[in-house]
Amino acid sequence: MNSTLLNAALSAAERGWPVFPLRPGDKRPAGHPEHNCPRTGRCADGHRIPEQRATLDADRIRACWQAPYNVGIATGPANLVVIDLDLPKDDSDTAPPEWAGLADGLDVFAVLCEHAGQRLPTETYTVRTRRGGQHLYFTAPEGRTLRSTGGTLGWKVDTRAWGGYVVAAGSTVGGTAYEIIHDVPPAPLPAWLGDLLTAQPAPAPMPLAELSARMRNATAYSTAALRGELEKVLSAREGGRNRAVYFAAYALARMIRNGDLTEGAVTSELTSAGESIGLPAGECRTAIRSGLVRGGALEASAA
Ligand SMILES: [Zn+2]
Repeated sequence: MNSTLLNAALSAAERGWPVFPLRPGDKRPAGHPEHNCPRTGRCADGHRIPEQRATLDADRIRACWQAPYNVGIATGPANLVVIDLDLPKDDSDTAPPEWAGLADGLDVFAVLCEHAGQRLPTETYTVRTRRGGQHLYFTAPEGRTLRSTGGTLGWKVDTRAWGGYVVAAGSTVGGTAYEIIHDVPPAPLPAWLGDLLTAQPAPAPMPLAELSARMRNATAYSTAALRGELEKVLSAREGGRNRAVYFAAYALARMIRNGDLTEGAVTSELTSAGESIGLPAGECRTAIRSGLVRGGALEASAA
């Protein structure tokens, strides 16, 4: 039989990444899903998810990969955080307003890096996915348990960590192989990405009286920050206006959370700035709300 898949499984395990079988030619795990669990054999004590049965054991891997299973890497136990940069599914799958004009996950990730003042972290183990997306592998930060996310970082930018898995290089889905395109050890996850991925539950709304008392103490710093963000919006070029408003709201959300600025003041200033550069009111409102929600200054349900 073709040893490509067995070798792919062994080579992932040699890197210290526990593997489990995926259906042949498919991305879905082999074996039964939880709702069909027979509660026998390995599931005698309760259903075991792929993350729990993934293995590094070469003998078990050789025994399993007698059949042409694709290879899943359980990213949590592998101590990996994989940034999954995807492509639109079809022509109707277009970027939402705050990412307008961007083509795919790689574009969005590049903008995130630029905004954070960071280089695109490409010097790491990278796999090309079957439709031409990329998986950037990073080692997980110590002392933090990151879970998989879908779209938290931005459009078409997912992450695979605890609770998730990736299709390993050497697997073939729909006739196309996942290929290593940069074969170096995974770099540590950049700290700024770890920060973005650490869930920050939105704080409880502050009582109005307390908020207005704190606003009277608005610092020169917060006023300067607001002015700085407004200037960025006013100098945004066509095609980047929506994103400029989104990022300004995102940046100012922290000051709203700290009580240095009010949501009302930020929204009204950003709305006038956005409209003065020709952004339609509806798009402006959406971009501001998205930025404030992403920055933790508003509940997502209020958006
Ligand atoms: Zn089961």
